[in-house]
Amino acid sequence: MKQIMDYLHQKVPRAGRSFPAYYHRALSTSVVGMVIYYLAVCVMLFAAGRRVEWVVLLMAAGMLGCRYSLGRVNVRLSFYAFEALIVFWVGWHTQHVGWDYGAQHLLIPMLTFCFFNIYEPPAVKLATFFGVLAYRTVLFAYAQHIPTGYVMSPTMTVAYQTLNTLAVFNTLGICYVTFSSSIQESERQLLLNNQELHKEAGTDALTQLPNRRALLEVVSRFRTEQPTAAFSIAIADIDFFKRINDTYGHNCGDYTLQTLAALFRDFSQGRYTVCRWGGEEFCFFMPGMNIDEAGAVMQDLNFAVKKMPLHYGDIDFSIRITIGVEENDFRSSMEELFDQADRKLYMGKANGRDQVVV
Ligand code: GH3
Ligand code: MG
Ligand code: MG
Repeated sequence: MKQIMDYLHQKVPRAGRSFPAYYHRALSTSVVGMVIYYLAVCVMLFAAGRRVEWVVLLMAAGMLGCRYSLGRVNVRLSFYAFEALIVFWVGWHTQHVGWDYGAQHLLIPMLTFCFFNIYEPPAVKLATFFGVLAYRTVLFAYAQHIPTGYVMSPTMTVAYQTLNTLAVFNTLGICYVTFSSSIQESERQLLLNNQELHKEAGTDALTQLPNRRALLEVVSRFRTEQPTAAFSIAIADIDFFKRINDTYGHNCGDYTLQTLAALFRDFSQGRYTVCRWGGEEFCFFMPGMNIDEAGAVMQDLNFAVKKMPLHYGDIDFSIRITIGVEENDFRSSMEELFDQADRKLYMGKANGRDQVVV
């Protein structure tokens, strides 16, 4: 079963823009089914009438031609040839074999193929719909005035009817399975791509930390989901970072930011979410913590930063950071909360840096 499904779902790039990718597979499978159908029809009509119907063999050859053209020429040509062959077959069959054997039902999968091409303009679909409807009605009216071509035994009639039904159901089934699972697969891909894009849009390229947008989303979601829960935030800024850039170069500055981000991530242990707030500033979101608890975590972090060894080429150096901490007071807006933490950070800067202001 799995092999059958994989075969039907296989993407064929040749099918490109004007025809959906699944179309090639659905059409080629159906066409092969039709070749087998015509060979069976040939055998049955021979058994019923003791004569070879060359038209049926020509139909099988036409379907083989469709299959050939699908792989080598183009899908559009094969599609039109497939439709034309069925239209001709239904007409010929009504005239020479008879209406009662049900070959005219093959018009339904033919119509389905037209409708399942998502790139086909609605006007073409509508025209095909009315065209097929008119053709079938006229054929039926015509069939009332002609004698039945083949008179078969009751058993033979059932067998021949069943063969026609099988051909219709087989083609319809292939169409439905390929189309529905292709939509499912497209939707899954779209969802995965969206998730990937969303993740990329919320990640800082240099440090691989979430960016400001992603952190604001986390805080905002927390406030919506747990409106009465305490939380604190903190903003940290590297002291005299410009000097590192100026003295050791911008690449060394980048290396410092990346190493610091890694320390922040390792130090978190699930206690906070950290993001790159911008430049050499980082922001921490500490859910469930009041200002004392958050202050203590930030003190430890400040100490860890001081001890963090930095080696860039043959340069050994260390950095200091200043942090402003603020607790949610359930009155201020998010903006006011971050402004307050920022104000505390700049108080720390003014007071000699390398400190945590709570
Ligand atoms: P202070 O202690 O007052 O914070 O001093 P500072 O030098 O850290 O502050 P300032 O805002 O003057 O300098 C920040 C520097 O950070 C300036 C900018 O070039 C640098 N910077 C911002 N983003 C990046 C980055 O992605 N990579 C590197 N290498 N430097 C960056
Ligand atoms: Mg700074
Ligand atoms: Mg700064």
